[in-house]
Amino acid sequence: MTNRRSILKAISTLTAATYFARPVFGQAKLHVGVVGSGIVGVSIALHLAQAGAKVTVFEKTALAAGATSKSFAWINGSNTNQNYRNLRIKSLEGWQKLDRELGLGIIWGGAIKWQPPGEVAARVRADIMAMAATNYPFKEIDADMFRRVGSEFTPGDIDIAGLATTGGHLDPVSVTTKLMARAKLLGVDVKMPCAVEELIMSGNDLRGVKTTDGDMALDRLVIASGVDTPRLTSKAGYLPNLHHEPGILVHSTAVEVATNKVVYGPGVHFKQFAYGRIVGADSETPPKSDTHQEIRRHAVAFPSKEIEDMHSQRIIDKIARFLPAAQKAQPHHLTLGFRPMPADRFPILGYLPKSSTIYVAVMHSGVTLAPIVGRMVTSELIGDKQEEILSPFRPDRPGLL
Ligand SMILES: Cc1cc2nc3c(=O)[nH]c(=O)nc-3n(C[C@H](O)[C@H](O)[C@H](O)COP(=O)(O)OP(=O)(O)OC[C@H]3O[C@@H](n4cnc5c(N)ncnc54)[C@H](O)[C@@H]3O)c2cc1C
Repeated sequence: MTNRRSILKAISTLTAATYFARPVFGQAKLHVGVVGSGIVGVSIALHLAQAGAKVTVFEKTALAAGATSKSFAWINGSNTNQNYRNLRIKSLEGWQKLDRELGLGIIWGGAIKWQPPGEVAARVRADIMAMAATNYPFKEIDADMFRRVGSEFTPGDIDIAGLATTGGHLDPVSVTTKLMARAKLLGVDVKMPCAVEELIMSGNDLRGVKTTDGDMALDRLVIASGVDTPRLTSKAGYLPNLHHEPGILVHSTAVEVATNKVVYGPGVHFKQFAYGRIVGADSETPPKSDTHQEIRRHAVAFPSKEIEDMHSQRIIDKIARFLPAAQKAQPHHLTLGFRPMPADRFPILGYLPKSSTIYVAVMHSGVTLAPIVGRMVTSELIGDKQEEILSPFRPDRPGLL
């Protein structure tokens, strides 16, 4: 009896020790948990697995269910902040590599922008001038050049126009699915549906997570849970100032393929997939009206099909003014998504303050940034490096808390 009790005690001590043991890298694979299977979380999981980590992804809903599936998914390097632009440009190189390796179907058509005379034109001109002074190929074009490169459009009066000859757009759900398929081939384990509810801590160090599927011991955790990120990081004492910025997009029925560019015209932006579907909107954010107040406060679904149809038809009509091929398009569906937008609009990337085990990766432009973020986060987690390119984007920078 005594013998049995001591064996049981030894087993329970061993279980606890195993649960909380931190393997030394080189002797055992580092076990990293990634919370969220949006495009950012999946890219991180893929890069970690490629570097030899043991990876578990936790997803509370479905693959790409958050901002990713509601994204316009323009991938571009256009930004006047030099550090941020460099990060974006590096990420475009990452997308080119992934596209070659995995056949992601990215449409590398660049982008075109124009405005008729008026107040908005002055802002667009200032943007184009600011970008002309950078290394990014987004330059002013005159009306003749516009006619040559944008013959698919009926632009009306042009006061200012610009053309980006790099970047493009992708289907965020299809691409995330392909990245995840590769990640799984490399051994990434996916728990879905499975929400991470609590962090298991010992002082400032992570020991594991409590999930809706039970507890799991982990060496590191990457929180890439989009607009839900503060809910988890706050459990480790970090509450970033993160807004959720709503945005709708109409998805049309497929029509004749007319353009491969991302288009920012007067009061409307749109793109077209290789199979003919047009995706676009007539505003980046909802109007500042009373009716739209709730959407600004928290994530909601569309109130009714009628309102959805009204928005869809209005947007398609606006697109059709500038892209005749869209005249035959019908609304297919509308999405309402919530951008994870840090207060200063730059990504938040790095270990939480005071932690060497919990890492946060939350950002707008996550579609553009997924490849570079996957690579750099992996280097910091597995290689124990401090990547210089990420240093302007640390969680403890001023203005975020
Ligand atoms: C309208 C709109 C237009 C956009 N346009 C562009 C654009 O043109 N270019 C661009 O680069 N970016 C754009 N974005 C932004 C881009 O889509 C996001 O930055 C990106 O999708 C974020 O990806 P993510 O993986 O970080 O987050 P998400 O895609 O939001 O994924 C987070 C995941 O975490 C899961 N999760 C949350 N909490 C938990 C938990 N506790 N346990 C388990 N799982 C959890 C969620 O279910 C979700 O699936 C746009 C976004 C919107 C909404």
